Amino acid sequence: MELIIIAGVAILTYISAVLKWLTIPGSVTAFVMGNIIFLAFDWRGLVLLGVFFLSSTLLTKWKRAKKEDKEALHIEDRQGRSAGQVLANGGAALLASAGQLIAPDPFWLIMFSAAFAAATADTWASEIGVLSKKRPFHIKEWKKVERGLSGAVSLLGTFAAALGALFISWSLYMLYEPALVIVLLVAFSGFIGNVVDTIFGAWFEQKFICQICKKETESKIHCSTRTIQVFGFSWFTNNLVNFTSTFIAGLMAGGVFVWLNN
Ligand SMILES: [Zn+2]
Repeated sequence: MELIIIAGVAILTYISAVLKWLTIPGSVTAFVMGNIIFLAFDWRGLVLLGVFFLSSTLLTKWKRAKKEDKEALHIEDRQGRSAGQVLANGGAALLASAGQLIAPDPFWLIMFSAAFAAATADTWASEIGVLSKKRPFHIKEWKKVERGLSGAVSLLGTFAAALGALFISWSLYMLYEPALVIVLLVAFSGFIGNVVDTIFGAWFEQKFICQICKKETESKIHCSTRTIQVFGFSWFTNNLVNFTSTFIAGLMAGGVFVWLNN
């Protein structure tokens, strides 16, 4: 049984590389991550990973032409998600899996689920929010800005974030049938993770200006030309923002869970 599941993970990560959903290092990272998650949380942990990964990938591909037309700035490049992006979205859940293997405790499953709820909320918010007909509002600059920038919020994106977090907590319910309070805690923490992501993105993340079209962007290349950095810390990348916000969501849910049980 174990061998069949590991072979299944190998096949899925291989297909992801062939379809360019993941780069080759990204696919190898996802394979190792899948195995550790399987060891820690059996096939149900893999289902949660799969729900996050498949929904995010399909949403990224969905209405792709329209997103590029709108110069969406948050879309991964055509090579697929890199190893760094895999670790940014799944690193906190991977730490929870390691915790479960070292010192098994219900805390880790709550942290694991909330971390994926936050990653899902963030991806859904980015990929659906960018299709908003209205220009989003930047929480730091306090004005409307281009679609796809970190720190920009729209009603549609916020709704998508809540839906993404709920989708993971509903999956958790279907797999483990935890108490309703746990389901709500995971969904709420995932949503808060997305809020933290937006705040960190607005205040700390690097921003660049395109020399050709003068648009603000998070990319080092725009209009096929190198952009100029105008703001932020060079080490504070989108990946670090994603990792930190999913980690905070996981710790928050785990912390409240421990508090509720004491
Ligand atoms: Zn440009």
